[in-house]
Amino acid sequence: MPDDPRPTTTTRPPTKTPTTTTTQPPTQPPTQPPTLFTGARVLIGDASDPIDNAALLVRNGLITAIGPADSVTAPSDAHCVDLRGKTVMPTIVNPHGHIGYLRGADTSSAHYSRENVLDHLRRLAYYGVSVFQSLGTDRDDIEITLRDEQRAGLLQEPGLPLLLTAGNGLIAPTPGSPNGGPYFATDVIREVTTPEEARATVRELAAKKPDAIKFWVDDRWSTKAKFGPDVYTAIIDEAHRLGHTVIAHIFDLEDAKGVVRAGVDGIAHMVREPGPDAELLKLLKDNDVFAFTSMSIQKAVPEGTAWLDDPDVSETVPADALAAIRAQIESIPADKLAEMKESYAVLEAGLRAYVDGGVRIVLSADSGLFVQFFGIAEHRELQAMVQAGMPAQQAIQAATQTPARILGLPDRGTLEPGKRADLLVLDADPLDDIANTRKISAVYLAGKPVDRAALRAAWTADTPA
Ligand SMILES: [Zn+2]
Repeated sequence: MPDDPRPTTTTRPPTKTPTTTTTQPPTQPPTQPPTLFTGARVLIGDASDPIDNAALLVRNGLITAIGPADSVTAPSDAHCVDLRGKTVMPTIVNPHGHIGYLRGADTSSAHYSRENVLDHLRRLAYYGVSVFQSLGTDRDDIEITLRDEQRAGLLQEPGLPLLLTAGNGLIAPTPGSPNGGPYFATDVIREVTTPEEARATVRELAAKKPDAIKFWVDDRWSTKAKFGPDVYTAIIDEAHRLGHTVIAHIFDLEDAKGVVRAGVDGIAHMVREPGPDAELLKLLKDNDVFAFTSMSIQKAVPEGTAWLDDPDVSETVPADALAAIRAQIESIPADKLAEMKESYAVLEAGLRAYVDGGVRIVLSADSGLFVQFFGIAEHRELQAMVQAGMPAQQAIQAATQTPARILGLPDRGTLEPGKRADLLVLDADPLDDIANTRKISAVYLAGKPVDRAALRAAWTADTPA
């Protein structure tokens, strides 16, 4: 990058102040003394070179200046935070998961509640995930309602990640059997059969202003019905007409091509065997379609169980849940395991093809089912991406700047003047080893530290022995 437009030092642009007003407008938070974070290596989130011995000035939750320490001037009342030896990156933005269903090692509609959704949001904050989008499995409008309350400033609990939701997704019905959606949510996914029904349902869903429209095209190894192009074209067209982003769950190469040709904005999974071909790569690139990674969920079994012993996992996941997962993974027969390893290698090769083909790659942790523990899954996804061969800087960008962009969040995703001070402070540099994103020293959301010790204490106390 020969010409980096990023300013090394910037002060906040002067705000327009009405001449006769003496008090702040009621919508403005009271002015707090600024905070100056100094001494860390900072990764901006845009894949540019890190800034060593950086200074980062934060006021009222926003970054007002960032650059090498000697280039940032702080006011005398600034509160200083010494981050020498640490690495700071933007918090993670995960645009794909299913909130509210996981409890311990069990994913079930029985666990779904507003309180469980809030618990998952707290877990995400604990691990430095600041934005989370739930894709199509809302129940009783709990996600939509929480999201609306959060956006209106009515949610009493501060320090939670921003929740986005697709509300309820769309799928083809399978006569005589539940549809091919996630097993814990088949009853809340909207079944449609004809293009007319699809359009009517999209209009109905759109009335709740979801953050995306989600649909599934997956026959689950030839056991379920899936949409043909006429129906998914109608969904995409109607959603676009109403101004919504459309994301498709796909599995097969030909379905991926079909939804891209029909104008989808993003695909929620990588294609499985045989993986992407040149035509799909060109379609994704030419149409600027974003591609979610969703790899770590396929990696959990082939990878083995060692990661369950990691202290950053066991500090929030109860021991009985970890034991249940371990037993499940260990029960997989050897031939099945070999098959899963081969399938996973296809995904890794697919990711490398995306990198080489210039496809817009976005981290997607598919958090909230099986082993995809909230917050942990996001870090495991980053690790999976780098292990597959994606350069660490690009993987971090795919976990921060790119998802913030596709979600339309201009104040998030990178550490730059004017953006929110959502900081993931690490004890070691993820450019040396991507697993270092899990060595979390602190998390700041809008400049305020997340009380990780208190969260951890509550979870530990909560857990029956
Ligand atoms: Zn999913």
